[in-house]
Amino acid sequence: MIFKICSKEELPKLFDVLSENHIVGPVKQGVDKEDQAIISFDIVRDFSQLQLDYSSAKFSPKKYFLPHQETLSTFDMAESDWREKVDFNIGKPSVFFGMHACDINALNKLDKVLLESVYPSPYYSSKRRNMFIIGMDCEPQPFCFCRSMGTDTALHGFDMFLTDLGEKYFVEILSATAFNWLKNLETRDPTEEDHLGYMAAVAERNKKFTAQVDTTDLTKILDMVFQAPVWQKWGERCLSCGTCANVCPTCYCYGVEEQVSLDLQRAAKVKHLHSCNLIDFAEVAGGHNFRQESHVRLKYRYYHKHRGFVEAFEESLCVGCGRCGEACLAGINVPEVIASVRGEED
Ligand code: SF4
Ligand code: SF4
Repeated sequence: MIFKICSKEELPKLFDVLSENHIVGPVKQGVDKEDQAIISFDIVRDFSQLQLDYSSAKFSPKKYFLPHQETLSTFDMAESDWREKVDFNIGKPSVFFGMHACDINALNKLDKVLLESVYPSPYYSSKRRNMFIIGMDCEPQPFCFCRSMGTDTALHGFDMFLTDLGEKYFVEILSATAFNWLKNLETRDPTEEDHLGYMAAVAERNKKFTAQVDTTDLTKILDMVFQAPVWQKWGERCLSCGTCANVCPTCYCYGVEEQVSLDLQRAAKVKHLHSCNLIDFAEVAGGHNFRQESHVRLKYRYYHKHRGFVEAFEESLCVGCGRCGEACLAGINVPEVIASVRGEED
């Protein structure tokens, strides 16, 4: 890894150099009832729109590489047969400005399934390979438990990563593209003092994490409590609204719908992101639903994230961003659910 120092005043220059691409970054969408800024990732056309000091974003940038809805293929009736057209929906190269470590790690986890597994998705890969990522350090919020999940720092999955050191950024460079683009800015090599400044900033940030999840032996414990009443307790509270999956940067489950025109001349296969908490998630042809009860669906969400994915990839599918708990109207959040599964709370 190469390290550089650049003054904060240089960053707009980088934005200008990159502006021939789509730029996606944290943008203020409004304020909540406590007058706090609501931040979400959006297309940015001017550097001043970027809220680089944002604390957390309601939604990760997931929709840009894993859209909620995507047409996989279309069909036209030609003479007496269907003619198929497949479009992987490749967009312009996109620059992601200001992604936090949790969202970069979420992307790395999605890569394991959608890019590197036995059945990679060409739709995901067409967008993922077109991304340039500028990471940004963050201020831990009371609901962030990324440190427990080992995702509070990003070691790969970005092109460059900026850490705020007051008037300047400590820049980590991982790709040749980032190195070349940085030549448009005034930068310098870090001194011993900069290294110490970086380490002090990291140590200071580490002190601010409060929320925790104990992941020790969690896969084993989940095997032990599969039939335990604790799932009923949380399941009875669950509204089966699917919001948790909607805001989650790592949820990728989906359904595919066949849409056929009334005159039977055109058709489309359309993919929708789904949520395992929605009532019809496990409904199959003929109408049988394998997970009719909300506690069974909630349980499977936790088993996918903290049990099945760990078995397959030796890491959890949760990055500890805390978004699901913040968005859940029923107050269901990962630290409390896991604590009660471990018998630590009523
Ligand atoms: S856990 Fe919360 S957000 Fe998720 S489906 Fe249940 S009520 Fe909705
Ligand atoms: S399960 Fe919740 S805390 Fe974990 S990555 Fe998804 S939204 Fe974030």
